[in-house]
Amino acid sequence: MSIGLFKIDYYLIITMTNSGDPEGSIIKAFRNRGYRATSQRIAISRYILSNHEHPTAQKAYLEVKKTHPTVSLATVYSTLKILNDIGLVMELNISQGETRYDPNIEAHAHLLCIQCGSLIDWSDPIMGELISKVSAAANFTVIGSSLDLKGICDGCRRKGDSTPPRAAAND
Ligand SMILES: [Zn+2]
Ligand SMILES: [Zn+2]
Repeated sequence: MSIGLFKIDYYLIITMTNSGDPEGSIIKAFRNRGYRATSQRIAISRYILSNHEHPTAQKAYLEVKKTHPTVSLATVYSTLKILNDIGLVMELNISQGETRYDPNIEAHAHLLCIQCGSLIDWSDPIMGELISKVSAAANFTVIGSSLDLKGICDGCRRKGDSTPPRAAAND
C-alpha cells in the first residue's frame, strides 16, 4: 500500500463523515478498489467507521446482526479485511488473543486498561513530529505506527480508590 493511496482514502472518509452521504462514499471506496459494495458490507463499514471503542469482529457482528439478521461472522471478517486492505481501518493486536479494529488511522497512542479492557485513543502532535523526525533521520518511509500503553484507566482507578481496604471493611 502506498502512502498516497492511504491518504486519499483517509480524506475520502473525512469527507464522507461531513457530507451526510456516508453510504455513497463507502460504496465509492469499495468500488474504487474493485470490491462489490453489498448492503451487508456497507452496514459493517458504517458500524466500524463510526465506532471509536475499537470493537472486535465479534462485537461488530452482534451489532450489525440487529439490523441485518442474515449477516455471518465470516462476512464481518472478510469486510474488515477489505477495510484494512484499502486503508480505512487498522487492525490492532494489543490485548492478547483478540484483534480489535480502529477507524482512526492517524498517528495516535492507545491506552489499554488491563482491568476493564477499554482501549482509549490518545493523540498528541508530538507523535507526528517524532515520526517525521525518525523518517527523515533514518531515511525511512513510515506507513504505520503504534504506541501501546497498558495500565489502569481513570474509571477503574477511582473505583479502586473508593473500595475500602479489606482489613478496614472487616472491622
Ligand atoms: Zn478500566
Ligand atoms: Zn485507536
